[in-house]
Amino acid sequence: MSRPAVANIRLDAFRHNYTLAKKLHGGRALAVIKANAYGHGAVQCARAIEDQADGFAVASIEEALVLREAGIASPILLLEGFFEDAEIPEIEDSNLWIVVHHSWQVQAILAARLSRPLTVWLKMDSGMHRVGLAPDEYRLAYENLKRHPNVAQIVLMSHFACADELVSMHPLQQIKTFRAATTGIDAPVSLSNSAGILGWPSSHADWSRPGIMLYGADPLLEKDKGSDVSGNLLRPVMQFASAVISLRTIPKGEPVGYGCAFVAERPIRVGVVACGYADGYPRVAPTGTPVAVDGKLTRLIGRVSMDMLTVDLTDLPDANLGSRVELWGDQVQVNEVASRAGTIAYELLCNVKRARFQYSDTSQ
Ligand SMILES: *Cc1c(COP(=O)(O)O)cnc(C)c1O
Repeated sequence: MSRPAVANIRLDAFRHNYTLAKKLHGGRALAVIKANAYGHGAVQCARAIEDQADGFAVASIEEALVLREAGIASPILLLEGFFEDAEIPEIEDSNLWIVVHHSWQVQAILAARLSRPLTVWLKMDSGMHRVGLAPDEYRLAYENLKRHPNVAQIVLMSHFACADELVSMHPLQQIKTFRAATTGIDAPVSLSNSAGILGWPSSHADWSRPGIMLYGADPLLEKDKGSDVSGNLLRPVMQFASAVISLRTIPKGEPVGYGCAFVAERPIRVGVVACGYADGYPRVAPTGTPVAVDGKLTRLIGRVSMDMLTVDLTDLPDANLGSRVELWGDQVQVNEVASRAGTIAYELLCNVKRARFQYSDTSQ
């Protein structure tokens, strides 16, 4: 048998989450599959929803070409547009949509010699202050692009800084800024990422851009939620799992693992699991982080090493060599592991590597 660390990707869950995102928001939905579909496999995920998806969004032309080469013909939006003018011919050839977030990109489009016009998503900095045209330069840029033969259609877009915080006032301020700067412009609008879809109905417009929710992780911060808005309706797509490869019982007072960072408070049965930070399990996850062994919850103990981690099997007498250990998936939420590790589900999912990827699709 080969090393048991696996990432099982359930494409039926991915499809379910896309359908749900689209229904909750209304209108059309670009499935955000940048960074290899948040670590899940961009080609497999795109193929799973190709029939119903209104389009896809990625971070770069390289990511888009992987999809085109796999035969995905749907619209693909480049979320940062082009990084240099030299990419424009390739964008034209591969029929990609582009975000335009900076005045130099506007100038480059106006100056380009094209054989067919481009679809532009014109991005406003409505308050996040990362990328986007300032509200007071937005309308002029829109008008210059609109009347130029190099531009086919324009979608007006912006992105939220704090949509995951339901108690924040910032998303509403951003929506207000965006609406004020676009009054009277007759063009489709896109504001909502996953948190916008789930938490901010006033951000709903013509197009949504769900990312993390497609993978089954709810981006809304637990502490802000009164009742669960939609979290239980999302289905986790990745099951990250491995198996127990070694077992021992150690007496009270003995340490486990690197740095002797954990010391047994009582005689303890320790299971060693073939998964470590080189597979993408966070090294900073502390003792106490939940794991599920043969379906039963227990805890991580000691430091995570490169290829292995250790779990507490003291209260799981049936656990043995070969027992399946879920690191995250159905029983252990990736959000829970992320919060223990001081990060977000996005980062954990993107980091999964080396483990064998297996794809399943029960509805096909
Ligand atoms: C990544 C990204 C998204 C998706 O965000 P989620 O929080 O994963 O839903 C949407 N829009 C833009 C511009 C992005 O860069």
